[in-house]
Amino acid sequence: MTLEELKALVRTVPDFPAPGILFRDLTTLISDGEGFAETVRALSERAEAADSELIAGIEARGFIFGAAVAARLRLPFLPVRKPGKLPVPTIGIDYALEYGRDRLEIDPDRVRDGQRATIVDDLIATGGTALAAAELLRLAGAAVSHALFVIDLPDLFGAERLRGAGITVEALMDFHGH
Ligand code: AMP
Repeated sequence: MTLEELKALVRTVPDFPAPGILFRDLTTLISDGEGFAETVRALSERAEAADSELIAGIEARGFIFGAAVAARLRLPFLPVRKPGKLPVPTIGIDYALEYGRDRLEIDPDRVRDGQRATIVDDLIATGGTALAAAELLRLAGAAVSHALFVIDLPDLFGAERLRGAGITVEALMDFHGH
Protein backbone atom coordinates (compact mmCIF):
# COMPACT_ATOMS: atom_id res chain seq x y z
CA MET A 1 0.00 0.00 0.00
CA THR A 2 1.46 3.40 -0.97
CA LEU A 3 1.40 6.58 1.10
CA GLU A 4 -0.94 8.07 -1.53
CA GLU A 5 -3.36 5.18 -0.97
CA LEU A 6 -3.12 5.75 2.80
CA LYS A 7 -3.80 9.44 2.32
CA ALA A 8 -6.94 8.59 0.37
CA LEU A 9 -8.24 6.77 3.50
CA VAL A 10 -8.27 10.02 5.54
CA ARG A 11 -11.70 11.63 5.78
CA THR A 12 -11.87 15.43 5.70
CA VAL A 13 -14.76 16.95 7.66
CA PRO A 14 -15.29 20.69 7.10
CA ASP A 15 -16.22 23.03 9.98
CA PHE A 16 -15.43 20.57 12.79
CA PRO A 17 -15.05 21.21 15.70
CA ALA A 18 -15.45 24.90 14.77
CA PRO A 19 -16.29 26.87 11.60
CA GLY A 20 -13.38 27.13 9.18
CA ILE A 21 -11.49 24.06 10.43
CA LEU A 22 -10.91 21.15 8.05
CA PHE A 23 -10.82 18.21 10.45
CA ARG A 24 -8.57 15.39 9.18
CA ASP A 25 -10.31 12.33 10.55
CA LEU A 26 -8.30 9.11 10.83
CA THR A 27 -11.30 6.98 11.89
CA THR A 28 -11.67 5.95 8.26
CA LEU A 29 -7.98 4.98 7.98
CA ILE A 30 -7.98 2.81 11.13
CA SER A 31 -11.20 1.12 10.07
CA ASP A 32 -9.28 -0.22 7.06
CA GLY A 33 -7.24 -3.15 8.43
CA GLU A 34 -4.58 -2.98 5.72
CA GLY A 35 -4.37 0.80 5.98
CA PHE A 36 -3.99 0.76 9.75
CA ALA A 37 -1.34 -1.98 9.60
CA GLU A 38 0.62 -0.15 6.91
CA THR A 39 0.45 3.12 8.88
CA VAL A 40 1.78 1.39 12.01
CA ARG A 41 4.49 -0.35 9.97
CA ALA A 42 5.64 2.93 8.39
CA LEU A 43 5.72 4.74 11.76
CA SER A 44 7.52 1.80 13.40
CA GLU A 45 10.19 1.80 10.69
CA ARG A 46 10.92 5.43 11.50
CA ALA A 47 10.90 4.89 15.28
CA GLU A 48 13.31 1.98 14.84
CA ALA A 49 15.65 4.06 12.66
CA ALA A 50 15.60 6.73 15.40
CA ASP A 51 16.89 4.10 17.83
CA SER A 52 13.98 4.80 20.17
CA GLU A 53 13.91 3.25 23.63
CA LEU A 54 10.49 4.58 24.64
CA ILE A 55 7.37 5.50 22.67
CA ALA A 56 5.32 8.35 24.17
CA GLY A 57 1.79 8.68 22.76
CA ILE A 58 -0.31 11.81 23.29
CA GLU A 59 -3.93 11.39 24.48
CA ALA A 60 -6.12 10.45 22.79
CA ARG A 61 -5.42 9.66 19.14
CA GLY A 62 -1.69 9.35 19.77
CA PHE A 63 -2.51 6.30 21.90
CA ILE A 64 -3.96 4.46 18.89
CA PHE A 65 -0.80 4.77 16.82
CA GLY A 66 1.83 5.05 19.57
CA ALA A 67 0.72 1.94 21.45
CA ALA A 68 0.66 -0.09 18.23
CA VAL A 69 4.17 1.10 17.30
CA ALA A 70 5.49 0.30 20.79
CA ALA A 71 4.02 -3.22 20.73
CA ARG A 72 5.37 -3.87 17.24
CA LEU A 73 8.89 -2.82 18.31
CA ARG A 74 8.56 -4.40 21.79
CA LEU A 75 9.32 -1.03 23.37
CA PRO A 76 7.76 0.51 26.48
CA PHE A 77 4.75 2.77 25.85
CA LEU A 78 4.25 5.93 27.90
CA PRO A 79 0.80 7.57 27.83
CA VAL A 80 1.01 11.38 27.90
CA ARG A 81 -2.34 12.10 29.53
CA LYS A 82 -4.89 14.84 29.92
CA PRO A 83 -5.03 16.19 33.51
CA GLY A 84 -6.39 14.14 36.40
CA LYS A 85 -6.35 10.74 34.66
CA LEU A 86 -3.32 9.06 36.23
CA PRO A 87 -3.82 7.42 39.65
CA VAL A 88 -0.31 8.27 40.91
CA PRO A 89 1.69 11.47 41.58
CA THR A 90 2.41 13.09 38.23
CA ILE A 91 4.43 15.87 36.70
CA GLY A 92 2.58 18.15 34.33
CA ILE A 93 2.91 21.07 31.96
CA ASP A 94 0.41 23.77 31.06
CA TYR A 95 0.42 25.05 27.49
CA ALA A 96 -1.46 27.53 25.36
CA LEU A 97 -4.03 26.44 22.80
CA GLU A 98 -5.45 28.61 20.02
CA TYR A 99 -8.32 29.35 22.42
CA GLY A 100 -7.46 28.86 26.09
CA ARG A 101 -5.05 26.53 27.84
CA ASP A 102 -4.57 22.82 28.39
CA ARG A 103 -2.36 20.52 30.44
CA LEU A 104 -0.52 17.24 29.92
CA GLU A 105 0.67 14.86 32.65
CA ILE A 106 2.90 11.80 32.92
CA ASP A 107 4.05 9.36 35.57
CA PRO A 108 7.71 10.39 35.88
CA ASP A 109 8.67 6.99 37.32
CA ARG A 110 8.08 5.42 33.90
CA VAL A 111 11.00 7.41 32.37
CA ARG A 112 14.68 6.59 32.84
CA ASP A 113 17.32 9.34 32.85
CA GLY A 114 18.66 9.78 29.33
CA GLN A 115 16.17 7.34 27.80
CA ARG A 116 15.69 8.04 24.07
CA ALA A 117 12.00 8.85 23.68
CA THR A 118 10.03 9.24 20.46
CA ILE A 119 6.72 11.13 20.55
CA VAL A 120 3.82 9.79 18.48
CA ASP A 121 0.60 11.62 17.67
CA ASP A 122 -1.96 11.46 14.89
CA LEU A 123 -1.43 14.97 13.57
CA ILE A 124 0.77 18.03 14.02
CA ALA A 125 -0.87 21.41 13.47
CA THR A 126 0.70 24.34 15.38
CA GLY A 127 2.99 21.96 17.26
CA GLY A 128 1.93 23.32 20.66
CA THR A 129 0.77 19.95 21.97
CA ALA A 130 3.81 17.98 20.83
CA LEU A 131 6.19 20.69 22.07
CA ALA A 132 4.56 20.59 25.52
CA ALA A 133 4.87 16.78 25.53
CA ALA A 134 8.57 17.07 24.61
CA GLU A 135 9.21 19.59 27.40
CA LEU A 136 7.44 17.34 29.89
CA LEU A 137 9.42 14.27 28.85
CA ARG A 138 12.64 16.25 29.07
CA LEU A 139 11.65 17.41 32.55
CA ALA A 140 11.33 13.74 33.50
CA GLY A 141 14.87 13.10 32.18
CA ALA A 142 14.16 11.67 28.73
CA ALA A 143 16.20 12.57 25.64
CA VAL A 144 13.55 13.56 23.09
CA SER A 145 15.06 13.63 19.64
CA HIS A 146 12.21 12.45 17.39
CA ALA A 147 8.50 13.02 16.89
CA LEU A 148 6.35 11.01 14.47
CA PHE A 149 2.94 11.90 13.07
CA VAL A 150 0.59 10.36 10.57
CA ILE A 151 -0.32 13.84 9.25
CA ASP A 152 1.49 17.18 9.09
CA LEU A 153 -0.32 20.43 8.34
CA PRO A 154 2.77 22.28 7.07
CA ASP A 155 0.97 25.61 6.64
CA LEU A 156 0.72 25.84 10.45
CA PHE A 157 4.51 25.44 10.90
CA GLY A 158 4.32 23.04 13.85
CA ALA A 159 7.09 20.82 12.49
CA GLU A 160 9.35 23.88 12.23
CA ARG A 161 8.67 24.76 15.87
CA LEU A 162 9.64 21.26 16.94
CA ARG A 163 12.77 21.33 14.81
CA GLY A 164 13.67 24.59 16.58
CA ALA A 165 13.60 22.60 19.82
CA GLY A 166 16.09 20.09 18.42
CA ILE A 167 13.53 17.45 17.47
CA THR A 168 13.56 15.55 14.18
CA VAL A 169 10.02 15.51 12.81
CA GLU A 170 8.63 12.98 10.37
CA ALA A 171 5.08 12.64 9.07
CA LEU A 172 3.68 10.09 6.65
CA MET A 173 1.61 12.65 4.73
CA ASP A 174 0.90 16.37 4.41
CA PHE A 175 -2.34 18.27 3.97
CA HIS A 176 -2.15 21.90 2.89
CA GLY A 177 -4.50 24.44 4.47
CA HIS A 178 -5.68 24.55 8.05
P1 AMP B 1 -1.39 21.36 17.68
O1 AMP B 1 -1.07 21.42 19.14
O2 AMP B 1 -1.88 22.66 17.14
O3 AMP B 1 -0.23 20.81 16.86
O4 AMP B 1 -2.62 20.38 17.53
C1 AMP B 1 -2.41 19.04 17.53
C2 AMP B 1 -3.56 18.24 18.09
O5 AMP B 1 -4.84 18.75 17.72
C3 AMP B 1 -3.44 16.85 17.55
O6 AMP B 1 -3.43 15.96 18.67
C4 AMP B 1 -4.63 16.64 16.65
O7 AMP B 1 -5.30 15.49 17.05
C5 AMP B 1 -5.53 17.86 16.85
N1 AMP B 1 -5.79 18.62 15.59
C6 AMP B 1 -5.41 19.90 15.33
N2 AMP B 1 -5.83 20.31 14.12
C7 AMP B 1 -6.50 19.27 13.58
C8 AMP B 1 -7.15 19.04 12.30
N3 AMP B 1 -7.23 19.99 11.33
N4 AMP B 1 -7.70 17.83 12.09
C9 AMP B 1 -7.64 16.86 13.04
N5 AMP B 1 -7.04 17.00 14.24
C10 AMP B 1 -6.48 18.19 14.52
